[in-house]
Amino acid sequence: MALVVQKYGGTSVGSVERIRNVAQRVARTFDEGNQVVVIVSAMAGETNRLVALAEEISEFPNEREYDVLVSTGEQVTIALLSMCLQSMGYKAKSYLGSQIPMLTDKVHAKARIKSIEDKYIRKDLEEGTIVVVAGFQGTDGEGNITTLGRGGSDTSAVAVAAGLKADVCEIYTDVDGVYTTDPRIVPKASKMQKISYDEMLEMASLGSKILQIRSVEFAKKYGVVVHVRSSFNDNPGTLVTKEDTDMETVLVSGVAYNKDEAKISLLRVPDHPGIASQLFGPLSEANITVDMIIQNVSHDGFTDMTFTVPKTDYKKALGIVEEVSKAIGAGGVKSDENIAKVSIIGVGMRSHSGVASTMFETLSREGINIEMISTSEIKVSCIIAAKYTELAVRVLHEAFGLDRQDNDES
Ligand code: ASP
Ligand code: MG
Repeated sequence: MALVVQKYGGTSVGSVERIRNVAQRVARTFDEGNQVVVIVSAMAGETNRLVALAEEISEFPNEREYDVLVSTGEQVTIALLSMCLQSMGYKAKSYLGSQIPMLTDKVHAKARIKSIEDKYIRKDLEEGTIVVVAGFQGTDGEGNITTLGRGGSDTSAVAVAAGLKADVCEIYTDVDGVYTTDPRIVPKASKMQKISYDEMLEMASLGSKILQIRSVEFAKKYGVVVHVRSSFNDNPGTLVTKEDTDMETVLVSGVAYNKDEAKISLLRVPDHPGIASQLFGPLSEANITVDMIIQNVSHDGFTDMTFTVPKTDYKKALGIVEEVSKAIGAGGVKSDENIAKVSIIGVGMRSHSGVASTMFETLSREGINIEMISTSEIKVSCIIAAKYTELAVRVLHEAFGLDRQDNDES
């Protein structure tokens, strides 16, 4: 008998009909002789609706009450799914995060899981009950509800799987796995059979919304194998798992892009110690995360500094940089919102050289100008003009041999 953890995202439980489908799948897994713990998100769109309500009632909603509010979406779906399973003749029981309890720190809206009590869940499972757990939420153990950040039910699922030492953690979503790139741009993109934790972390930080970053960190830390798959068909999905040697034989395993950043340059900055901290200090105090940074070689004691920030923080960042520019006597500020970041990712880069230069050559062959570059051990990212995003993704996908051959199955 295996212990299976299954997580269903918002679109998979987006209507009563779909909740019935989920119940069928859960029941089938149970009938195959497994113990089953199910984690669910709120119905599609519900958490957004709740967040909008909070913002409508107050410009700065109190964080404790924000969590009380936005955690309610999951309370609806655990009850509906449990009722549905019961009406099909199964024993099922729902739990809120605070009833388990799933203990977290006190940081509202982005709490981290500290520990999970398994005593009730174990007892239920032994009695043949299907356990249905609300994703996205926990408690600080002192009477306060906490939530784990948007997309957090992935993390709930991985944490429950780690805590119960489950045999598998299946994440059901509306895509049937992780693809080599966005299939809407490259129809020849293919589904990966498996991807390493590190590659998946890069994908998530580059804007892939398939899994919450923290859930991948958690899976890596506790060695939980995550199976990302579709709730709308029975195709095998993608395994997120530890690195193995055949992953390294592939140079690049995926191409990602992200249009959510904007670029800001501070021009003719006097080049002396402390300048970078005068600029990035105020940005970090304003909770703005800076991604790429370039500082040019200085001529005659002056330099240019260029960096990227999330588009959502662009206006705020620009205001701060303009202030700084005046304060330090810089030459002015230039900015551009119409940029994109295209990236290639692959653990194979650790052991192969020339990957970055192939990327640069490929882009230059298409006349695409590279404005900024950043690299990590398993990733190279370039900032380019947004209008070339699709072209860049297509040519890179082809250049690294990722286009699916027509006789290929997956
Ligand atoms: N319902 C929450 C959200 O929309 C959690 C999740 O779906 O993972 O962010
Ligand atoms: Mg999600």
